[in-house]
Amino acid sequence: MPKYVYDFIEGDRSRADLLGGKGANLAEMTRLGLPVPPGFTVTTDACRAFLATGAPPDGLYEEINAHLRQIEARLDRWLGDPADPLLLAVRSGGRYSMPGMMETILDIGLNDATVAGLAAHSGDERFAWDSYRRLIQMFGRTVHGVPAEEFEHELAAVRATAGPGGPSAEQLRDLVDTYKKIFARHVGHDFPQAPHEQLFLAVRAVFSSWHSERARVYRRQERIPDDLGTAVTVMAMVFGNLGPDSGTGVAFTRDPATGAPGVYGDYLTDAQGEDVVAGIRNTVPLTELERLDPASYHRLRQIMATLERHYRDLCDVEFTIERGRLWMLQTRVGKRTAAAAFVIAAQLAEEGLVTADEALTRVTGAQLAHLMFPAFDTAVAPAPLAVGVGASPGAAVGRVVFDSAAATTADGPVILVRPETNPDDLPGMIAAAGVLTSRGGKTSHAAVVARGMGRTCVCGADALRIDVERGEFTVGDRVVRAGELISIDGTSGRIWLGEVPAQPSPVARYLAGELRPEADPLVAAVHRLLAHADLVRRLGVRANADTPADARRARRLGATGIGLCRTEHMFLGERRALVERLILADRPAEVAAALDALLPLQRADFVELLAAMDGLPVTVRLLDPPLHEFLPPLAELTARVAVARARGEDPGRDATLLAAVRRTHEANPMLGLRGVRLGLLVPGLFAMQVRALAEAAAQRVRSGGDPRPEIMVPLVGDVRELAAVADEARRVLAEVDGAPEIPVGTMIETPRAALTAGEIAAEARFFSLGTNDLTQTTWAFSRDDVEGSFFPAYLARGIFPVSPFESLDVTGVGRLVRLAVAEGRATRPELTVGVCGEHGGDPDSIAFFAAAGLDYVSCSPYRVPVARLAAGRAAVESGTDTSDSR
Ligand code: ADP
Ligand code: MG
Ligand code: MG
Repeated sequence: MPKYVYDFIEGDRSRADLLGGKGANLAEMTRLGLPVPPGFTVTTDACRAFLATGAPPDGLYEEINAHLRQIEARLDRWLGDPADPLLLAVRSGGRYSMPGMMETILDIGLNDATVAGLAAHSGDERFAWDSYRRLIQMFGRTVHGVPAEEFEHELAAVRATAGPGGPSAEQLRDLVDTYKKIFARHVGHDFPQAPHEQLFLAVRAVFSSWHSERARVYRRQERIPDDLGTAVTVMAMVFGNLGPDSGTGVAFTRDPATGAPGVYGDYLTDAQGEDVVAGIRNTVPLTELERLDPASYHRLRQIMATLERHYRDLCDVEFTIERGRLWMLQTRVGKRTAAAAFVIAAQLAEEGLVTADEALTRVTGAQLAHLMFPAFDTAVAPAPLAVGVGASPGAAVGRVVFDSAAATTADGPVILVRPETNPDDLPGMIAAAGVLTSRGGKTSHAAVVARGMGRTCVCGADALRIDVERGEFTVGDRVVRAGELISIDGTSGRIWLGEVPAQPSPVARYLAGELRPEADPLVAAVHRLLAHADLVRRLGVRANADTPADARRARRLGATGIGLCRTEHMFLGERRALVERLILADRPAEVAAALDALLPLQRADFVELLAAMDGLPVTVRLLDPPLHEFLPPLAELTARVAVARARGEDPGRDATLLAAVRRTHEANPMLGLRGVRLGLLVPGLFAMQVRALAEAAAQRVRSGGDPRPEIMVPLVGDVRELAAVADEARRVLAEVDGAPEIPVGTMIETPRAALTAGEIAAEARFFSLGTNDLTQTTWAFSRDDVEGSFFPAYLARGIFPVSPFESLDVTGVGRLVRLAVAEGRATRPELTVGVCGEHGGDPDSIAFFAAAGLDYVSCSPYRVPVARLAAGRAAVESGTDTSDSR
């Protein structure tokens, strides 16, 4: 027969699946010899069996009884003994902590007979009757659903008539009578007097509380599986409500908000656990306990130190003091903020409790990203106007606008306010400082798109009544009109009227070189953990940077090179006219003239960029986008030409441009004439870019620099495309005097390139995985179209848990990545392989790239620190670095 019940001395913390977190940790504390009242835990197996069949598994009650008898023997007290009764607490707790979501019943074992024994033995009649009324209330509510208000109402009435010392024993005895009547009226029978019956009914009720509405909601939100079930812990009661030398409290071994060392918590004298939650009296800070009961206080601190050493992490505890004697009722590794996670991990490493490697695994790239956002100064913030779902972090302040047009034409920052968003709102979302919606949650269109572009977003603020037509929204009776200033916090979801001052994050300031690491404990912790990440990581971190300013920023943030410089940005602005000339040219001499005009401009850009990254690799991608992107939009030109003709004027150059736009128009430009195809079809274009780069490098060498340029060819599908471009590049390079050796490599961003990587590597000195295009082409997703239209529905239906553009699709796209790495290196063992898609800054994807054996990731400059941390973690977790590098 399976074993369903484990005494505390049989279990340990490794068995949280079976015993629940609470049961497993009570067992662990018992093993450590800490003062835990004796008890046992009924397993989650038993719960699952009960939930499946509606009845406890065979033999469960006998097994519980057998364990109960052991406890009774140990304590020499018996459940139901009228002279000196043992009382029990029946507590819930599954694998994952779900605070306050399920049920606890205290004081099991009290009835009309044992209440007298408890009074006599404790010498406190009031306490005994108070405990009895608590039992009827908790049992009534939990087992039979009797509304708590009914009991609370009567209790309040008695308290109101009681003297300053609280209700008398007589009053409490009468209250118990009233409670019993309430119970019988609701339930249809009397309060059960048999202690064992109370116990078994309580166990069943805790099992059933797994499926309570609030527990389900909580699990959905926290992504805890619904089928785990809860364990039930049954243990001897200890009493915090036995007078002024008794009490109950909760405590943390460090501050869970900031990570600051010290003991933090709250204490309530003469009370049982549920009073703390009920808020009848105010708790006092734990430090008060030092004055009230120094012996217990010091013992508690000792125990907490023991727990922290044992768990090697921040712990929280629940404890009760019964007449000066301390009892531990719960512990677990405590939840904490992102800031506390860094501070605690660094401190534990400092204290030698964990290795530097382990400290690194206690923090995540996502936490670091979170700490880099500016935050509102909540100390001076007024009460929020409303609270929605924090969907995309950041602190945004701006004037209210209600549509995309207003957002794109406004002066100064705006907040786009919509009931919900759709693809038409995209321009407005791009233009706005923040997005606020009244409908939809973390997977709504607004949330997904805003996160994708790093825009602050609060969604689902259902207190807002938004009237787009009138250009206003209301919250209660406050009307907010277009143009009013509001502030939104994409982390907490809070919305304020007016401008709430935002503070730049100290972590961001440190990373930008504006703060010394000693500036504060959080910054010091980030500094320490990042330094260790840099020490252990095997992945290099480069940045995607197109301008010298970006390159310098990336370098300050720790990038060791540029993995992707997009040259198309060098073709914009005033240079657009030169590109137009190039496109419109129909004689070779005109083409050559247009290119000659572009060359010195490109060269100057490259000189600066190479200077900013002196001594580090700079991978320059040859022109990638379709040429018509540099021409005015078709609709605009058509209109201009039509207007001119209607006025009887000559549209002149516009007519020529319109013809060119029509000529180059494509139905699917993403799959059309772009990338390497452009280089092969527009004579001299790539040669000009290569020459500009080579001459820039030569110039840097002449002025004593150490330029390390690389040439990267985009959108290759076949080795012959690359070979043609590489031949031409080598010819040009040979003509430039004084240039360093410049390797030519390619992006792997089409499935065919990945599938033929072995052939391509014969021509490529390096690969850079363009995972944005590779994801588009592998899934046949046009990113611009799909992210706004059906991704929210896909996410809501769980077709993928996170957008494959945010976190690499390891199963599909990842398989192509592995194939490309393996076959590329089979041909050319020294092949350098990096990644330059946005996935290069995503912690989960970085772990995959590390495992796939890449040499570096390249990401946007501000993600560089996140990537460094994630790469360090990946190195530690892959287990190959076992040295204690503390
Ligand atoms: P939750 O999971 O909601 O925190 P618990 O099972 O921890 O529920 O119980 C809530 C409170 O009940 C505890 O904080 C504690 O004060 C009290 N309690 C639990 N077990 C005992 C016990 N054996 N003796 C006295 N009080 C107890
Ligand atoms: Mg608890
Ligand atoms: Mg691409």
